[in-house]
Amino acid sequence: MTASNDVSRRHALLLAAGGVSAGTLAVAGGASAQEGTAAMTHAETAGAADTFPLAPGWRRFQLGEATVTVILDGIRPGEGPFPTFGEDQTQEAVGALMAENGLPKDRFVNFFHPTLIEIGDQLLLVDTGMGEAGRANGMGLLRQRMAAAGHAPEDVDVVVLTHLHGDHINGLMEGDAPAFPNARYGVGAEEMAFWTSAEAKSGSRADNAKAVEAKVVPFKDKTTLLADGDEVVPGVTARAAFGHTPGMLAFEVVSGGKRLFLMADTFSQFVVSFQRPQWQVRFDQDKVAAAETRARFATMLADESVPIVGYHLPFPAMGYVQRDGDAFRFVPETYQSLVES
Ligand SMILES: [Zn+2]
Repeated sequence: MTASNDVSRRHALLLAAGGVSAGTLAVAGGASAQEGTAAMTHAETAGAADTFPLAPGWRRFQLGEATVTVILDGIRPGEGPFPTFGEDQTQEAVGALMAENGLPKDRFVNFFHPTLIEIGDQLLLVDTGMGEAGRANGMGLLRQRMAAAGHAPEDVDVVVLTHLHGDHINGLMEGDAPAFPNARYGVGAEEMAFWTSAEAKSGSRADNAKAVEAKVVPFKDKTTLLADGDEVVPGVTARAAFGHTPGMLAFEVVSGGKRLFLMADTFSQFVVSFQRPQWQVRFDQDKVAAAETRARFATMLADESVPIVGYHLPFPAMGYVQRDGDAFRFVPETYQSLVES
């Protein structure tokens, strides 16, 4: 836990002076959502590669008095979902489940969704996408799509990282400069301890530990280490979601009596993760703990009817978890947030 000693930790966490209490937020009149229809005419996006067929690639939701803007950093088509999902199953079993759900048996598209939350007087960015390393492959679009959605990098008050895999941290830097120059940072305490440990630096995960050294450690003096239950700013609370990585955090957002969970990589394939939550996932570091975390959160989210954003779920990455027999199913957001229920 040496990293804990290196990084400043204060109980007030990441609230800047002048933030309002979550308890003072009034219930908003009605939910609304908006798509970035002006995106491709914005000067910031002119000439940029944008290969996603459902451009503009960002969508805004109202959550009580908070505003949540999900940004599509990019997509990555490839083979799958087996063996990334259902690693402990046969290719035939995973393919059959895909076919039952009207999906290709052996092709898969992964999505990457950093999310902006405007709450109180704070602008939070949750995860940062592929950054410049992804641009050769049409990814790393966070900055241009943030601009299209009306947010400058300088406006971000807090960057919180759900965990420290490359597809979540590479966007922290542009060249050698901080991508969000005015931000403070929040990272899970266990997550930081693991990725700066000798174990992480020497084993099969050494490349990712190097990325953490290059992208995350430089901000240690501006970083608050978060534990389960810590309030990042009023209305945003860290929730332990360990398993995918040793210290992954989900974030619960509460405003005006509405709740939303940003689930990071707990649910990364919209069929397998819900219909077969016990199936093992190749990128889950502790596969048993990750499956337990998946089942625990799915049960709570279904029973309490709380919407989620899943970083790797299909755009716009938001939706709802329902019980289905002894497992679950995912219902994507379409127009639910536009009408009062
Ligand atoms: Zn990820």
